Amino acid sequence: MKKSVRKAIIAGNWKMNKTRPEAKELLDALKPLVANADGKVEVVACVPFTNIDTAVSATEGSNIKIGAENVHFEKSGAFTGEISADMLVEAGVEYVVIGHSERRQYFGETDETVNKRTKAALAAGLKPIVCVGELLWERECGITEEVVARQIKLDLFDVSAEDVKKTVIAYEPVWAIGTGKTATADQAEEVCALIRATLAKLYGDETAQAVTIQYGGSMNAKNCAELLAKENVDGGLIGGASLKADDFNTIVQAAVEG
Ligand code: PEP
Repeated sequence: MKKSVRKAIIAGNWKMNKTRPEAKELLDALKPLVANADGKVEVVACVPFTNIDTAVSATEGSNIKIGAENVHFEKSGAFTGEISADMLVEAGVEYVVIGHSERRQYFGETDETVNKRTKAALAAGLKPIVCVGELLWERECGITEEVVARQIKLDLFDVSAEDVKKTVIAYEPVWAIGTGKTATADQAEEVCALIRATLAKLYGDETAQAVTIQYGGSMNAKNCAELLAKENVDGGLIGGASLKADDFNTIVQAAVEG
């Protein structure tokens, strides 16, 4: 299977930004801009929990899908402040970001909890966007391959081949997130190809070839075309540039053009 037949997915990660009126304004602006991507590129906005209702209503009948930025692994119970996968599904969410480096860095997420959240999301019918990526010092020590392969093995432990095909992997070098420092297109391709090779060892080539692998880390209107042209980069997870309709649309259009 070639890149051309894998699903290209451009997902915005809004992080802790936008009130409900601001969310509606951004999505209303985005809808007509990205309408032409329908059937070619999946367009997703991953929004704060408080914006989900607004975002689902604002995008009804459009080709923009709504995602959440995290999910808890238990079905229900005494987990104050957490949101379950069933709650997200009921609210109209289709995708969920799991294991973002900010969750790993600031909120104690581990590969074990990422694995549990991924399995809970899949069991509920959500499509997880599982984030992996090395720290700067890990890259400088020359262990990027080991770090990312380990994350893939642990984060997807006990996930079936059928479910892996519904999972999106986002390669996000931690040193490139929110810093303005982008991995070069060659660096992004190298690690995305390594992720696919790791998936092939775990699940076989046919499954590995079907998985959408995104690059994320300061992707913007200027650098997106070069990154998205790479064979193993099937889309992007976009932070800062997803907060402006024009910039996000430029990235979507670059993906439409391939
Ligand atoms: C992200 O939050 O996943 C991200 C890639 O952020 P940014 O595009 O701002 O680097």
